[in-house]
Amino acid sequence: MDILLIGGGLAGLAAALDLARRGHQVAVVERKQYPFHKVCGEYVSNEVLPYLRRLGADPAELGPAAISRFLLSSPGGRILTSPLDLGGFGVSRYVLDDFLYQKGLAAGVTFHLKSTVTDVAFDPAANRHTVTLADGRTLAARVVLGTYGKRANLDRQLQRPFFAQRSPYLGVKYHLRLPGFPRDVIALHNFADGYAGISAIEEDKLCFCYLSTRQNLKTHGTIPALERQVLARNPRLREILDAAEVLYPQPEVINEISFAPKQPVEQHVLMCGDAAGLITPLCGNGMAMALHGAALAAAAADGFLAGRTSRVQMEADYARAWQAQFGARLRVGRAVQQLFGGPLLSEAVVGGLRYWPGAVRALMRRTHGQPF
Ligand SMILES: Cc1cc2nc3c(=O)[nH]c(=O)nc-3n(C[C@H](O)[C@H](O)[C@H](O)COP(=O)(O)OP(=O)(O)OC[C@H]3O[C@@H](n4cnc5c(N)ncnc54)[C@H](O)[C@@H]3O)c2cc1C
Repeated sequence: MDILLIGGGLAGLAAALDLARRGHQVAVVERKQYPFHKVCGEYVSNEVLPYLRRLGADPAELGPAAISRFLLSSPGGRILTSPLDLGGFGVSRYVLDDFLYQKGLAAGVTFHLKSTVTDVAFDPAANRHTVTLADGRTLAARVVLGTYGKRANLDRQLQRPFFAQRSPYLGVKYHLRLPGFPRDVIALHNFADGYAGISAIEEDKLCFCYLSTRQNLKTHGTIPALERQVLARNPRLREILDAAEVLYPQPEVINEISFAPKQPVEQHVLMCGDAAGLITPLCGNGMAMALHGAALAAAAADGFLAGRTSRVQMEADYARAWQAQFGARLRVGRAVQQLFGGPLLSEAVVGGLRYWPGAVRALMRRTHGQPF
């Protein structure tokens, strides 16, 4: 195999499709089976559209919501609104990831589904990687991309420092129906130690997704109690929670969401998407970064596989391109996350920003990229 991708989320699926279309033999190992739900706000910045269209995967086929306005509320319910300069679209990960998977299959990508990678090792003598799966199988590849998301046991195996630091954040997501909610708005509502995003996706559905802390959940015991006793103190969230029809039997929940810096290359594996660094969900740019990272990784791997660059050059080029594209965005994202760290601070920040609309748009520009 020329190239193997560990994880078939947005970064893995886009890079696989890109590399297959460049004529390489590509395999993706994904621990789940498509389609499946994922904790994610499901708002995608329009910066990704040219790339997805070049890959023959125009999301317009999925009937996404076109989103052009932003609304932010403080824990007390004070509101600021702003146009979104570039805008975005809303589509569920259930639909979007499956769409890219189907495109990958059609382009000749080999998928190993319901398979988990437990180990990756580089053999310098053979100049290739051996990847071990949980069922004991091994796969060999000249290039490996780490596209396995925010956190996996592989990070421990690769001795990545962030893995040892615990993160207080957890994420919850489900779909709603709420007649009257405008389809062109992404709303972010703050509450004590967290914030919730709500925006339209395909059909007449909305994605409701929030970031809170393990401590918040521990104090209140259950997700419904957390929502009633903490989220609903924001009157805007109370209106939503009171009126919405919940479309999931159980919410999706994940924990240990870390925004700690990571390296884009580890032991000759090119890390891509959240495996290379996660921007705070407040910025709504993680999916665009995963797709843009896929474009950078695919270009770097293509140069090596086609014999134009050495492995050393491929890794150095990728790390440089990755830092140039995402380094500053991640730093600003971490600072923004701190601003919304507590109820008093986020009340003051939203209160101040209401009178300073230029600052809101400047923050958005610094946490988003250009169309690629
Ligand atoms: C609460 C929250 C809200 C968010 N909201 C938004 C938003 O509105 N807009 C936005 O742009 N971004 C948002 N993001 C960020 C966005 O979800 C991520 O940046 C994006 O999903 C990254 O894609 P990825 O391909 O790197 O990882 P993922 O999409 O997580 O894919 C990783 C894949 O790897 C698989 N995997 C993991 N380990 C293994 C293994 N060992 N072997 C095989 N497979 C494995 C997983 O099953 C998964 O399918 C949000 C994040 C959070 C936490």
